[in-house]
Order: sequence, then C-alpha cells, then structure tokens
Amino acid sequence: MTDEFEQVFGSVAAGVWAAPGRVNLIGEHTDYNDGFVLPIALPHAVKVAAAPRTDGRLRLYSKQGDDRITDIELGALAPGAPNSWAGYPAGVVWALREAGHQVGGADLYFDSDVPGGAGLSSSAALECATAIAYRDLYQLDLSAAELAVLSQRAENAFVGVPCGVMDQMASACCEDGAALFLDTRDLSWRQVPLRLAEQGLALLVIDTRVKHDLGDGAYAGLRAGCEGAAELLGLAALRDLPEAGLAEALAALPSELAPLVRHVVTEDARVLRAIELLDKGEFAALGPILTAGHASQRDDFAISCAESDLAVRTALAAGALGARQTGGGFGGSVIALVPQELAAAVGTAVHNAFTTAGFTTPVSFLATPSRGAHRLA
Ligand code: ADP
Ligand code: MG
Repeated sequence: MTDEFEQVFGSVAAGVWAAPGRVNLIGEHTDYNDGFVLPIALPHAVKVAAAPRTDGRLRLYSKQGDDRITDIELGALAPGAPNSWAGYPAGVVWALREAGHQVGGADLYFDSDVPGGAGLSSSAALECATAIAYRDLYQLDLSAAELAVLSQRAENAFVGVPCGVMDQMASACCEDGAALFLDTRDLSWRQVPLRLAEQGLALLVIDTRVKHDLGDGAYAGLRAGCEGAAELLGLAALRDLPEAGLAEALAALPSELAPLVRHVVTEDARVLRAIELLDKGEFAALGPILTAGHASQRDDFAISCAESDLAVRTALAAGALGARQTGGGFGGSVIALVPQELAAAVGTAVHNAFTTAGFTTPVSFLATPSRGAHRLA
C-alpha cells in the first residue's frame, strides 16, 4: 500500500487504515424506521494509505477506480462534485468541514477487496476508511459512532443516496467475534458474541452477482412509503408500532402501504428474537428467523429477485439452517447459516442451480465476524 501510494503521489504516506464491508444478519430496511439491526463486519475491507496536504487540495486514487487521480480544491467540494466514485471519500471530507472540523487537504490511495454493489457495503467501507484516516491525520476527537454518522451524511447529502445508518455503524463499530446489535433511534449498541465455529456452524455469503443500484429510486420510494405510513398512523416512525397493534394498523392503511409496514414491524421483532437467542448462545435457532426474514422481504417488501430466491431455496434444500438476502435488496448477496460440514455442499448446490437456471455464476465465501475500522500502520 505505501509503495503504491508513493508511485501514484510521489510522496510518503503517513499511515494506513482499514474499514470493513458488512453483512446484516437480520433487520433489513429497519434502519430508516428508527428500528433495530444486527450486522457483522466482514474480513473484507477498504484500505487507505494517506498523507495530509498543506495546499488545500484533496487528491483521490482507487485501485478499483477510474485509473486517474481526482484532484479537487477543498473549497470546490459540493454535493455532486465530484460525481464519480470519488464522491464517497470527497463527501466525507465535505461532511467533516460542514460539521466545523478544521481539516485540510490530503492524498488518499484506496485498495479494496469488498465487492462493489454486492450488498456488502463497499460504499460505507470507502467512507469509513476516509473518515478514520482523516480523524488521525488531523487529530480529530471523534468516536466511532460520530465517524459513522459523518459518513452517512456524506452518502445522503453529497452522493445523494438516502441510506440509513446501519452500514456505516457496522463498518465503524463492529468488533471481532461479535455482531452489532444497534438501535438506530438513539445509536446505542452492544456487541453480541457470535462464535459460530464453536458450535460447528458457519455463515456462508453468496454474492448473486445481481448488482443492485440503490441510487435508482426504488430505495427512496420504499423509504418514502414507510415514512408516509408512519405519518398516517400518527407515529414518529414505524418502530413505534408494536407487533400487537399490527393487525389494526394494517386495516387502517392503504393497500400499497400495508405490506411495507408489516415487513418493518415483523422485522424489528425478528431482530429482538434473534438477540434473545444469541444471548443464550442458541446460534442454530437463528436459522428460521433468517428464512422468515427472507419471506418477509420477498412477499411484503418486494425487494428480492429470482436469483436471491433461488439461492435461498437451494441453500435450504441442501441443508442450510436458514438463509436470506442481505443488504438493500434487488440482488446483492444472500447469507446462509450452515453446519460447517455442509458449507461446501451448500455452495456447490447454489452454483449448480444458478448454472441450470442460466444465471451468472455466483461467488461464495465464509464470513467470520471481524473488526470495525482501525489503523493498520
Ligand atoms: P455497496 O455499498 O452495496 O457495495 P453501493 O452502490 O452503495 O453498493 O456502492 C458501490 C459504489 O461505491 C461503487 O459503484 C463505487 O462508486 C464505490 N466504491 C466502492 N468501493 C470502491 C473502491 N474500492 N474504489 C472506488 N470506488 C468504490
Ligand atoms: Mg452502499
């Protein structure tokens, strides 16, 4: 990394940082409804080598980018400019300055093994890597949660994706060997130990290779639907609707909003049930909750696709204890909770099913709960 930094920028890097991608175990589309989520950080991360600059310029290069240095004056940063991949890191620097932090320019060199657009949050990893590098380059007194919120602001206001805060919180705050139980209303969280291997279990991630595009308006439409339903129900957010009051609320809602509300309310309840089980160390019992979460996002929220449904069905038939599409939806990745000895067979079964169906070959790997953003060197 530092060698490549020198080749690109002709100077010496001051340090190297990493911020991971994530998979969400359960709690989908709940984060912008003030609800609960339960992600883990992946071993896959965006790494950044960085050095401060004194001339007020921000220079950005990514090994997975566009083969050129994006060079911009800090004063010229504005939502939408730059509007390439560089908008994610530039947006973080913009958000820091908007929040009143006295930061100057920098050279940033990125290299990542988080697959992009695969529902594994490469965008949040890119933002959080930038945020933590800037924290250290400019000695900012910012907590992990504050870095996450600034990164979310960059994605919302600078890049223009109306995402919730889960991805950035996962990338910034997760710890090794644990899932992050996050209440997105007040950003309180705790680490929930998740030592699957000790119980002979593994988490298989299957990238369906169907690229979702969160900027395409579908996500914004779902978010607006949820917020509109909350307003009709006289609630601050759908998180405030208890499961016990669901039937009555559904009867009062227009037919296009009722399924959205049912998904969000039952999904919050699934996160809470999952936490109860994990706290008791009953990891295998998580399986049916994952599968029920998939049915809910497929049938009620309508954010699944043929490839994700096939991956889930096939994984279950091959012995997975539970499976669901993870991430914002419309493709991306599927997770499957599997007995370790079946992990390879489940992966093969899904690959074969995709071949038979004429779908692009998926990519699968085992995920262990990993560490959030940190300094490497
Ligand atoms: P996800 O976050 O699920 O991977 P997004 O659509 O939110 O998908 O973010 C993907 C976008 O993030 C890419 O299109 C690209 O602009 C940017 N990105 C992610 N990782 C990198 C990287 N290593 N280098 C350059 N751009 C990246
Ligand atoms: Mg993203």
